[in-house]
Amino acid sequence: MIVSQKNSLCYFTFSKFVPFSGIRHGIFSRIGGFSQIPFHSLNAGLSVGDSPDVVMQNRTAISEHMGGAELVFLHQTHDTHVVIFDKNEPVVPSSKTLPPISGDAMVSNVPGKTLAIQVADCQAVQLFDPVKKVIANVHSGWRGSIQNIVGKCVENMKTHFNCRPEEIIAGVSPSLGPCCSEFIHYKTEIPEHFWPYKDPRHHFNFWRITSDQLKDSGLPPENIELSNLCTKCNDHLFFSYRQTKQTGRFVSAIGLK
Ligand SMILES: [Zn+2]
Repeated sequence: MIVSQKNSLCYFTFSKFVPFSGIRHGIFSRIGGFSQIPFHSLNAGLSVGDSPDVVMQNRTAISEHMGGAELVFLHQTHDTHVVIFDKNEPVVPSSKTLPPISGDAMVSNVPGKTLAIQVADCQAVQLFDPVKKVIANVHSGWRGSIQNIVGKCVENMKTHFNCRPEEIIAGVSPSLGPCCSEFIHYKTEIPEHFWPYKDPRHHFNFWRITSDQLKDSGLPPENIELSNLCTKCNDHLFFSYRQTKQTGRFVSAIGLK
């Protein structure tokens, strides 16, 4: 990942996405927004207790950074519903006219529509097919991981847009790392076939789980970029729910120009 600063915003980009001029993307740190403690400062979460007006100011700052693009947020539910935006279908829902759509992944071929996922320890997984010009953004917390939402998203890219997995590039955002992801109740929460991803201290490596799920979906290993940054260890840069229960949400955004 590459770290950059523009105006007051500090953001990260995936090295594997940078060569492609047809997209804008970024993982926005918590730095440079308007929210006060404990949401300081670039909080994009509307349902965490922060002032809605200030959250909209933060979202506008992110949109302006993304070239003024329309940011599409979902009502994220830790499930596996994939929302499709297709420029060839008559009604393209707009975040300006409709309440947030429920879902945890978005796939789109619509230029100007920027897909925004909000997280605080969960993974945001960005996908880009440079051949078919299709993007996706996935919210994958531990519940999403054990339901393989990234695999379901790749499946939707294949069936809806004829994407070939071997041409898809993936970037995994900063999120709770194996250093901090202790699951005391793993025997009831996490299916047994994921236990090989656990260390003796019951810390799970969800980065490796996602990477394996993407490979199982057909992505070449060299197309997968993990940020390898733990949000709890870096809570000066990112919101971390495990570190501070009442906190904000940071944004992963990707859009076709
Ligand atoms: Zn950590």
